[in-house]
Amino acid sequence: MLELENMTVRYGKHLAVDQVGFSVAPGEIVVALGANGAGKSSLLKAMAGMVRPEAGAVLRLHGKPLTGLPAHEVTNAGIALVPEGRGVVGRMTVEENLRLGATPARARAREEETLARVFDIFPRLAERRSQWVRTMSGGEQQMVAVGRAMMSCPDVLLLDEPSLGLAPILVGDLFRALARVRDTGVGLLIVEQNVRISLRHADRGYLLEAGRITGSGTSDELMKDNAVRQAFLGGD
Ligand code: ATP
Repeated sequence: MLELENMTVRYGKHLAVDQVGFSVAPGEIVVALGANGAGKSSLLKAMAGMVRPEAGAVLRLHGKPLTGLPAHEVTNAGIALVPEGRGVVGRMTVEENLRLGATPARARAREEETLARVFDIFPRLAERRSQWVRTMSGGEQQMVAVGRAMMSCPDVLLLDEPSLGLAPILVGDLFRALARVRDTGVGLLIVEQNVRISLRHADRGYLLEAGRITGSGTSDELMKDNAVRQAFLGGD
Protein backbone atom coordinates (compact mmCIF):
# COMPACT_ATOMS: atom_id res chain seq x y z
CA MET A 1 0.00 0.00 0.00
CA LEU A 2 2.68 2.50 1.04
CA GLU A 3 5.98 2.32 -0.81
CA LEU A 4 9.04 4.42 -0.20
CA GLU A 5 12.14 4.32 -2.41
CA ASN A 6 15.42 6.16 -2.44
CA MET A 7 14.47 8.73 0.24
CA THR A 8 17.37 11.07 0.97
CA VAL A 9 17.28 14.15 3.23
CA ARG A 10 20.16 16.59 3.57
CA TYR A 11 20.51 19.62 5.82
CA GLY A 12 23.28 21.58 4.10
CA LYS A 13 26.17 19.13 4.00
CA HIS A 14 24.70 16.85 6.63
CA LEU A 15 23.15 13.68 5.26
CA ALA A 16 20.32 12.80 7.69
CA VAL A 17 18.51 10.14 5.61
CA ASP A 18 20.39 8.14 2.99
CA GLN A 19 18.48 6.33 0.23
CA VAL A 20 15.92 4.74 2.53
CA GLY A 21 13.23 2.47 1.11
CA PHE A 22 10.55 0.24 2.62
CA SER A 23 6.89 -0.70 2.41
CA VAL A 24 3.91 -0.87 4.74
CA ALA A 25 0.87 -3.06 3.99
CA PRO A 26 -2.71 -2.45 5.20
CA GLY A 27 -3.22 -3.73 8.74
CA GLU A 28 0.48 -4.02 9.43
CA ILE A 29 2.66 -2.44 12.15
CA VAL A 30 6.16 -1.73 10.88
CA VAL A 31 8.79 -0.26 13.19
CA ALA A 32 11.95 1.61 12.20
CA LEU A 33 14.42 1.23 15.06
CA GLY A 34 17.06 3.90 15.44
CA ALA A 35 19.14 5.58 18.13
CA ASN A 36 19.29 9.36 18.71
CA GLY A 37 20.17 11.14 15.51
CA ALA A 38 19.66 8.08 13.29
CA GLY A 39 17.35 10.16 11.11
CA LYS A 40 13.98 8.89 12.33
CA SER A 41 12.23 12.25 12.59
CA SER A 42 13.72 13.49 9.32
CA LEU A 43 12.46 10.38 7.55
CA LEU A 44 8.89 10.84 8.79
CA LYS A 45 8.88 14.59 8.15
CA ALA A 46 10.04 14.05 4.59
CA MET A 47 7.28 11.48 4.04
CA ALA A 48 4.67 13.82 5.56
CA GLY A 49 5.64 16.75 3.33
CA MET A 50 7.23 18.80 6.12
CA VAL A 51 10.83 18.51 4.91
CA ARG A 52 11.85 18.50 1.26
CA PRO A 53 13.66 15.32 0.19
CA GLU A 54 16.42 15.19 -2.43
CA ALA A 55 15.36 14.58 -6.02
CA GLY A 56 14.91 10.90 -6.83
CA ALA A 57 12.84 9.95 -3.78
CA VAL A 58 9.56 8.11 -4.47
CA LEU A 59 6.64 7.90 -2.05
CA ARG A 60 3.51 6.12 -3.27
CA LEU A 61 0.23 5.29 -1.59
CA HIS A 62 -1.95 2.80 -3.46
CA GLY A 63 0.33 3.42 -6.45
CA LYS A 64 -0.26 7.18 -6.44
CA PRO A 65 2.93 9.31 -6.24
CA LEU A 66 2.97 11.74 -3.31
CA THR A 67 6.65 12.72 -3.14
CA GLY A 68 7.26 16.37 -2.36
CA LEU A 69 3.58 17.32 -1.97
CA PRO A 70 2.77 19.84 0.78
CA ALA A 71 1.75 18.39 4.15
CA HIS A 72 -2.01 19.00 3.81
CA GLU A 73 -2.11 17.21 0.46
CA VAL A 74 -0.26 14.22 1.90
CA THR A 75 -2.83 14.12 4.71
CA ASN A 76 -5.70 14.40 2.22
CA ALA A 77 -4.22 11.47 0.32
CA GLY A 78 -4.33 9.27 3.43
CA ILE A 79 -1.07 9.61 5.39
CA ALA A 80 -1.23 11.13 8.89
CA LEU A 81 1.76 12.02 11.09
CA VAL A 82 1.77 11.93 14.90
CA PRO A 83 4.78 14.19 15.53
CA GLU A 84 7.37 13.83 18.27
CA GLY A 85 6.34 16.09 21.13
CA ARG A 86 2.73 15.46 20.08
CA GLY A 87 1.76 18.88 18.68
CA VAL A 88 -1.53 19.02 20.54
CA VAL A 89 -3.19 22.36 21.39
CA GLY A 90 -3.05 22.82 25.16
CA ARG A 91 -5.70 25.54 25.40
CA MET A 92 -8.36 23.46 23.71
CA THR A 93 -10.40 20.54 24.98
CA VAL A 94 -9.78 16.91 24.06
CA GLU A 95 -12.78 16.86 21.76
CA GLU A 96 -11.78 20.13 20.04
CA ASN A 97 -8.28 18.76 19.45
CA LEU A 98 -9.67 15.56 17.99
CA ARG A 99 -12.05 17.38 15.66
CA LEU A 100 -9.13 19.46 14.35
CA GLY A 101 -7.85 16.28 12.73
CA ALA A 102 -10.93 15.78 10.56
CA THR A 103 -9.75 18.13 7.82
CA PRO A 104 -9.85 15.99 4.63
CA ALA A 105 -13.30 16.02 2.97
CA ARG A 106 -13.70 12.25 3.34
CA ALA A 107 -12.89 12.59 7.06
CA ARG A 108 -15.42 15.38 7.61
CA ALA A 109 -18.14 13.21 6.11
CA ARG A 110 -17.43 10.49 8.72
CA GLU A 111 -16.45 12.71 11.64
CA GLU A 112 -18.97 11.45 14.24
CA GLU A 113 -18.38 7.81 13.36
CA THR A 114 -14.59 8.22 13.60
CA LEU A 115 -14.87 10.17 16.87
CA ALA A 116 -16.87 7.26 18.32
CA ARG A 117 -14.13 4.83 17.20
CA VAL A 118 -11.41 6.99 18.79
CA PHE A 119 -13.37 7.09 22.06
CA ASP A 120 -13.85 3.31 21.87
CA ILE A 121 -10.09 2.72 21.48
CA PHE A 122 -9.18 5.39 24.06
CA PRO A 123 -11.94 5.37 26.71
CA ARG A 124 -9.87 7.79 28.80
CA LEU A 125 -10.39 10.43 26.11
CA ALA A 126 -14.14 9.88 26.19
CA GLU A 127 -14.14 10.41 29.97
CA ARG A 128 -12.13 13.60 29.54
CA ARG A 129 -13.55 14.97 26.33
CA SER A 130 -14.21 18.43 27.87
CA GLN A 131 -10.88 18.72 29.69
CA TRP A 132 -8.20 21.15 28.54
CA VAL A 133 -5.40 19.18 26.99
CA ARG A 134 -2.63 21.13 28.77
CA THR A 135 -3.92 19.81 32.11
CA MET A 136 -3.57 16.19 30.98
CA SER A 137 -0.71 13.76 31.63
CA GLY A 138 1.93 13.03 29.01
CA GLY A 139 0.37 9.67 28.24
CA GLU A 140 -3.08 11.17 27.83
CA GLN A 141 -1.72 13.89 25.54
CA GLN A 142 -0.08 11.20 23.42
CA MET A 143 -3.50 9.50 23.12
CA VAL A 144 -4.99 12.83 21.98
CA ALA A 145 -2.26 13.14 19.33
CA VAL A 146 -2.92 9.62 18.03
CA GLY A 147 -6.68 10.18 18.14
CA ARG A 148 -6.38 13.43 16.23
CA ALA A 149 -4.37 11.71 13.49
CA MET A 150 -6.99 8.94 13.34
CA MET A 151 -9.65 11.61 12.78
CA SER A 152 -8.22 12.28 9.30
CA CYS A 153 -9.25 8.68 8.37
CA PRO A 154 -5.73 7.76 7.24
CA ASP A 155 -4.71 4.62 5.41
CA VAL A 156 -1.26 4.94 6.99
CA LEU A 157 -0.32 6.44 10.35
CA LEU A 158 3.26 7.63 10.91
CA LEU A 159 4.28 7.84 14.58
CA ASP A 160 7.42 9.60 15.78
CA GLU A 161 8.63 7.97 19.03
CA PRO A 162 5.21 7.58 20.65
CA SER A 163 6.75 6.04 23.78
CA LEU A 164 9.01 9.03 24.51
CA GLY A 165 8.55 10.33 28.05
CA LEU A 166 5.88 7.79 29.02
CA ALA A 167 6.01 5.49 32.04
CA PRO A 168 6.49 1.84 30.96
CA ILE A 169 2.94 0.83 31.93
CA LEU A 170 1.49 3.62 29.76
CA VAL A 171 3.71 2.60 26.85
CA GLY A 172 2.17 -0.88 27.00
CA ASP A 173 -1.35 0.60 27.01
CA LEU A 174 -0.50 2.86 24.08
CA PHE A 175 0.91 0.03 21.97
CA ARG A 176 -2.12 -2.15 22.71
CA ALA A 177 -4.31 0.73 21.50
CA LEU A 178 -2.16 1.06 18.38
CA ALA A 179 -2.67 -2.65 17.72
CA ARG A 180 -6.42 -1.99 17.75
CA VAL A 181 -5.94 0.80 15.20
CA ARG A 182 -3.99 -1.69 13.06
CA ASP A 183 -6.88 -4.15 13.39
CA THR A 184 -9.14 -1.63 11.62
CA GLY A 185 -6.96 -2.06 8.50
CA VAL A 186 -4.72 0.99 8.95
CA GLY A 187 -0.99 0.50 8.28
CA LEU A 188 1.31 1.92 10.98
CA LEU A 189 4.91 3.01 10.60
CA ILE A 190 6.42 3.69 14.01
CA VAL A 191 9.92 5.06 14.55
CA GLU A 192 11.23 4.15 17.98
CA GLN A 193 14.23 3.75 20.23
CA ASN A 194 12.20 1.57 22.58
CA VAL A 195 13.07 -1.75 20.97
CA ARG A 196 11.52 -4.29 23.30
CA ILE A 197 8.04 -2.86 23.42
CA SER A 198 7.87 -1.88 19.78
CA LEU A 199 9.04 -5.29 18.54
CA ARG A 200 6.58 -6.99 20.86
CA HIS A 201 3.72 -5.25 19.03
CA ALA A 202 5.13 -4.82 15.52
CA ASP A 203 4.86 -7.31 12.66
CA ARG A 204 8.13 -6.32 10.98
CA GLY A 205 10.93 -3.87 11.40
CA TYR A 206 13.89 -2.08 9.92
CA LEU A 207 17.12 -0.95 11.53
CA LEU A 208 18.07 2.65 10.85
CA GLU A 209 21.67 3.66 11.56
CA ALA A 210 23.19 7.01 10.56
CA GLY A 211 20.38 7.56 8.06
CA ARG A 212 20.67 4.16 6.35
CA ILE A 213 18.68 0.96 6.61
CA THR A 214 21.15 -1.63 7.85
CA GLY A 215 18.83 -4.53 8.59
CA SER A 216 15.26 -5.77 8.39
CA GLY A 217 13.16 -8.73 9.40
CA THR A 218 10.13 -9.94 11.28
CA SER A 219 9.88 -8.83 14.90
CA ASP A 220 11.01 -12.29 16.06
CA GLU A 221 14.02 -12.22 13.77
CA LEU A 222 15.03 -8.73 14.91
CA MET A 223 14.66 -9.64 18.59
CA LYS A 224 17.22 -12.41 18.04
CA ASP A 225 19.47 -10.37 15.74
CA ASN A 226 22.95 -9.75 17.12
CA ALA A 227 23.20 -6.24 15.69
CA VAL A 228 19.92 -5.25 17.35
CA ARG A 229 20.96 -6.84 20.64
CA GLN A 230 24.33 -5.10 20.59
CA ALA A 231 22.96 -1.69 19.56
CA PHE A 232 19.81 -1.56 21.66
CA LEU A 233 19.52 -4.34 24.20
CA GLY A 234 22.96 -4.17 25.78
CA GLY A 235 23.96 -7.46 24.17
CA ASP A 236 21.89 -9.50 26.68
P1 ATP B 1 16.17 11.80 17.87
O1 ATP B 1 15.77 10.44 18.31
O2 ATP B 1 17.30 12.36 18.70
O3 ATP B 1 15.02 12.75 17.69
P2 ATP B 1 16.24 11.19 15.05
O4 ATP B 1 16.63 9.79 14.75
O5 ATP B 1 14.81 11.54 14.98
O6 ATP B 1 16.85 11.62 16.43
P3 ATP B 1 16.66 13.40 13.25
O7 ATP B 1 15.97 14.36 14.15
O8 ATP B 1 16.00 13.00 12.02
O9 ATP B 1 17.07 12.08 14.05
O10 ATP B 1 18.09 13.99 12.91
C1 ATP B 1 19.04 13.31 12.08
C2 ATP B 1 20.28 14.19 11.95
O11 ATP B 1 19.97 15.37 11.20
C3 ATP B 1 20.84 14.66 13.28
O12 ATP B 1 22.25 14.63 13.20
C4 ATP B 1 20.33 16.09 13.42
O13 ATP B 1 21.22 16.88 14.15
C5 ATP B 1 20.25 16.54 11.98
N1 ATP B 1 19.17 17.51 11.77
C6 ATP B 1 17.85 17.31 12.03
N2 ATP B 1 17.12 18.41 11.70
C7 ATP B 1 18.00 19.33 11.24
C8 ATP B 1 17.88 20.66 10.72
N3 ATP B 1 16.68 21.26 10.62
N4 ATP B 1 19.01 21.28 10.34
C9 ATP B 1 20.21 20.69 10.43
N5 ATP B 1 20.40 19.42 10.88
C10 ATP B 1 19.31 18.75 11.28
